This record gives sequence, C-alpha cells and structure tokens, in this order.
Amino acid sequence: MSNKIVLITGASRGIGAATARLFAANGYAVGINYRSRQDAAQAVQRDIEAQGGRCVLIQADVSVESEVINLFRQLDEQLGAPDCLVNNAGILHAQSKLEAMSAERINQLLSSNVTSAFICAREAIKRMSTAHGGSGGSIINVSSMAALKGSPNEYMDYAASKGAIDSMTRGLALEVAAYGIRVNAVRPGLIYTDIHADGGEPGRVDRLKEKIPLRRGGQPEEVAEAICWLASEKSAFVTGSFIDLSGGL
Ligand code: NAP
Repeated sequence: MSNKIVLITGASRGIGAATARLFAANGYAVGINYRSRQDAAQAVQRDIEAQGGRCVLIQADVSVESEVINLFRQLDEQLGAPDCLVNNAGILHAQSKLEAMSAERINQLLSSNVTSAFICAREAIKRMSTAHGGSGGSIINVSSMAALKGSPNEYMDYAASKGAIDSMTRGLALEVAAYGIRVNAVRPGLIYTDIHADGGEPGRVDRLKEKIPLRRGGQPEEVAEAICWLASEKSAFVTGSFIDLSGGL
C-alpha cells in the first residue's frame, strides 16, 4: 500500500477508469479528471469509495491550458501535489482518408491528444521536480500501437498524435531524469472501450480480433496493470521506455 497521489486524465471511462480503480486498490489517492461525463466519473468514484479508497473528481478539458492550470490547482487543494501523472485522455474522430480531413479536425485532435499531455506534464514537473523542491515522480503517457502502424484509411491524424506522444516520452524522460522524474508510455492495441464508437465502428475490436496473434482484444484492466507497474518502485530503473499491450499485433 502507499500514501501516494495520482492524477489520471480522462478517468471517467475506459482505460482511465480501470487505471483509477487499480491505483486506488494499491492505496493511492486518485484525482479523477473527466471532460463531460460526470455520471461515469461518479460511478468510478462510488466503486473506489466502496472499496475504502480515496478519490476526488475534477472536471477539466485538458486541451485547454487554463483548465489544466485549474485542474492542478484543484488537485493541490483537495489531495496535494501528485507523485504520478497518467496522461490518458484522448479522442478519435470518424474513420476517414487524409484527403477528406479538415484542418479543424486535425487541430482539434492534436490539441486533445498532444498539447494536453504536454501541458499536463509541465504542471506535474513543476510540482515533482527536485529542481523545484519536489520529491520526484512518475509520468505515464498512454500512446497507441497506431503510432507504429500509421492507421492508413482510418485515422492517420490520431496515429500521428500518438507518434508525437512517443517522441515526447523519450525527450522528456531524458530532460527530467536528473530531477527524480521517470517518464514512460504504454502502447495499447485493440482494447474494448467506447473510443471505437467515436471512430464510427463500435464493433471494431471484434471485427479485427482474428488478426491479433493472441486471437482476442484486450481489456482496459490489462492496460491498467502496466501503467501501475510503471508508476511503482518495481520499475525504478525504467525511464524513456514503452510497453506494448497489443496481443502481438
Ligand atoms: P474512452 O473509453 O473513449 O475514454 C476517453 C476518456 O477520456 C473519457 O474519460 C473522456 O472523458 C476523456 N477525455 C477525452 N477528451 C478529454 C479532454 N479533452 N479532457 C478531459 N478528458 C477527456 O477511451 P479509451 O479507449 O479508454 O482511451 C484512453 C486512452 O487510451 C486514449 O489516449 C486512447 O487514445 C488510448 N488508446 C485506446 C485504445 C483502445 O483500443 N481503446 C488503443 C490505444 C490507445 P468523458 O467521459 O467526460 O467524455
């Protein structure tokens, strides 16, 4: 068990919600950020409190800088400075070829999936860095196997946003290693969550699961296990690294 504090962006549903439940079970106090689904965030809170865990809900659109600053201020006031940040919030737009993508779509996706992670990491580093009087910490970015595959004909904008997350993971890990902060990423493959419905294909995992070497889709809880390991002292010598959770795809 631990007395540590974690902030998870986009923790009302899917991978973020599973990660919030697992951190709470490991004794962390959990900051549950969500964008609009207060009902879903409250359900995660109820589950955690029923197990004797501690958490707070903080609404913020992490693509908006002022809201991120307010998110961290609220976390400071309600729980304290974070020991761990999980940059999980992310979106997907409807499947499309590049020739039909507007600049508005691409920019909105990049601000939701990339700028958000940069500014959340910035606020976390101000609190964690030994250069600023902090006691170190861990940042875990939720990337995607799409970063390696490119997602042609479907979501090249999304794949490129995760490529940016991979570059940021590597660069930031090197930038802050001397200040007690580790930065790593997970790259999930096809995981059963609501995000596929946003892409216009709720049954995407089942359509593609026969192509996965392990012949099944993944569960959010399986991704949460890797994230919690990367946050823990068991991975104390790991930084700038990636864990692929893809069933071999
Ligand atoms: P999901 O079920 O659709 O959940 C998305 C979560 O992110 C929700 O909690 C949502 O909040 C939140 N969110 C979205 N935009 C936000 C914003 N601007 N500010 C704050 N919160 C925001 O998605 P998921 O599949 O769990 O995805 C989580 C992460 O895993 C994403 O980064 C995604 O790219 C990545 N990933 C998923 C898969 C997969 O197969 N599922 C594979 C690879 C990578 P509300 O509930 O309030 O809307």
